[in-house]
Amino acid sequence: MERQIWDACLNDIREKINPLAFKTWFLPIKPVGFSGNELTIEVPSQFFYEWIEENYSSFLKKALTSVIGEEARLMYSIVMDKSQGLPVTIELPHQNVITDSFAEDRRSRETASPKISAAFERNLVRFETQLNQKYMFDNLIRGDCNSLAFAASKSVAQNPGQNAFNPLVIYGGVGLGKTHMIQAIGNTVRENKITDRVLYVSSEKFAIDFVNSIQNGKIQEFSAFYRSIDVLIIDDIQFFSGKEKTQEEIFHIFNTLHQSNKQIILSADRPIKEIKGIEDRLISRFNWGLSADIQPPDYETRKAIILSKLHQSGVNLDEAVIEFIANNVTDNVRELEGCIVKLLAAQSLDNRDIDLQFTKSTLKDIIRHTAKRLTLDTIEKAVCSYFSITPNDLKGKSKKKEIATGRQIAMYLSKMMTDSSLKTIGLHFGGRDHSTVIHAVNTIGKRNDSITEERKKLEEIKKRIEILSM
Ligand code: ADP
Ligand code: MG
Repeated sequence: MERQIWDACLNDIREKINPLAFKTWFLPIKPVGFSGNELTIEVPSQFFYEWIEENYSSFLKKALTSVIGEEARLMYSIVMDKSQGLPVTIELPHQNVITDSFAEDRRSRETASPKISAAFERNLVRFETQLNQKYMFDNLIRGDCNSLAFAASKSVAQNPGQNAFNPLVIYGGVGLGKTHMIQAIGNTVRENKITDRVLYVSSEKFAIDFVNSIQNGKIQEFSAFYRSIDVLIIDDIQFFSGKEKTQEEIFHIFNTLHQSNKQIILSADRPIKEIKGIEDRLISRFNWGLSADIQPPDYETRKAIILSKLHQSGVNLDEAVIEFIANNVTDNVRELEGCIVKLLAAQSLDNRDIDLQFTKSTLKDIIRHTAKRLTLDTIEKAVCSYFSITPNDLKGKSKKKEIATGRQIAMYLSKMMTDSSLKTIGLHFGGRDHSTVIHAVNTIGKRNDSITEERKKLEEIKKRIEILSM
C-alpha cells in the first residue's frame, strides 16, 4: 500500500522539480509504512531529511494532500549507518506536513546542522563517477618523465585523503598523460573498494554546471553534491582562470572536503603559480599538498609506450619502425598513439607489411613538422657542435673515435629524421656507399637501445637539431 501511495506522490513531484534533483533526493527514499493517514518514508540520513524539508517540503505537502487528502501526515525514518550491516533506524518525532509547527521545528534544526553527515555521503543514489575505466596504472608507462607524479598518484590511490599529498596536483603539457594518471587514481580507489564516491570532472563541466545551477536556482544541490564526494578529481584547472565566481565555489568546496580528509586531485597544463587569473587564496590552498610535473617522455619511455600500445592491440612492428616513430614523435604521447593507429589503419587498407618506407610515407603528415624543414646540413651542424668537430672532419677519413662516432650518428639521424635515401646520405657525408650507411644505422640503433649514455647523447643532439631547425 505504502508503495502505491509513494509512487503516486513521486509522479506528482517528478513533474515539478529538475530531473537531477529528483534522482538525487527522491529516488533514494523508500516508503516503509502506511497506516491511518500517515505515510512513513525511509531516508538515508539526517542530512537528507533536513535537505528535503528545507527545499522540498512544499512539493511533498502538495503531493501528499493530493494523494492521501487533507489529513495526510508524514513520518521519516532515518537510516543511521547502512555500512555497518543491518540498517539502524531512528524515527523522527512525528511530523505533520500540513501544520506550521513543522516549519518551526525546521527552524530550530537549521542552526544545528548545515553540515553533511557521513551517512549521507555513503547513501546518495547511483551517481556517475565519469571515470573512463581504460585509464589504469597498469597501462601507464612509468619513466623518468613522470616518476614522481606516478609514485605520488599510486600512493594517493592507496590512501585517499590520508596522506600528505592533498591536494595532489599533476601538471604538464598537452598529451603527456595527465588525464590518464588522475583517472587511474580514481579507478584504483574504486577497484580497491575504498570508496565509490569518486568523481572525475573536467573544469569546463564543473564551470558550466555551476552556472546552470545558479540559473536554475539549484546552487545548494550543486554545493551539497560536491561536498559529498570522497575523492574529487578536477582536470585542467587552468580553465578556471578569470572565473571568479567559480573559483569562489571551488574554494568553499575545497575547504569542506579538505577539512574532512577527503582527497582532492587536480591537473593543470603548467605549474599552479604560473596560471594567471587564479585567486591567491586558492593558489595557496592548491599548494598545500604536492605538485608533481610530467615531462615529455624520453626516447626509452617513448619506445616502451609504443610497445605497450602495440601489445594492447595485439600487433607487432619492425624494430626499425618503432625506432622511427620513437625518434620522430617526441613531445606528445597522444600523437605517438595517433601514429600507431594510422599505421595499422593504412596497413589494413593496403594489406601489406609495415616497413620503414611504408611508415615514413604513411606518417609523413604527422611527422612533417620535423622532417620537412630538416636538412642533412642541419643534422651535420648539430653533430659537429656536439662533438666540437668540423664538417670537414665529419666528411673526411679520420678514424678518431669522436669523429667516427659523430659520422655514424649523423648518418643514423639522417636516416631516422629525414626522407633522404641511403645513397643521398652516403654522398652527403663524404661520398660513402649505402652499405656504410646501413652499417652506421644498425650500430647506432643497437647502442641507442642498450646503453643509457648513448641514448642521452642522441637526445642531446636531437635537441640541438630541433633548435637549429626552428
Ligand atoms: P593529457 O591529459 O596530459 O593531455 P592524456 O592523459 O589525455 O594527456 O594522454 C593522451 C594519451 O596518451 C592517452 O591515450 C594516454 O593513455 C596516453 N598516454 C600518455 N602518457 C602515457 C604513458 N606514460 N603510458 C601510456 N600511455 C600514455
Ligand atoms: Mg587531459
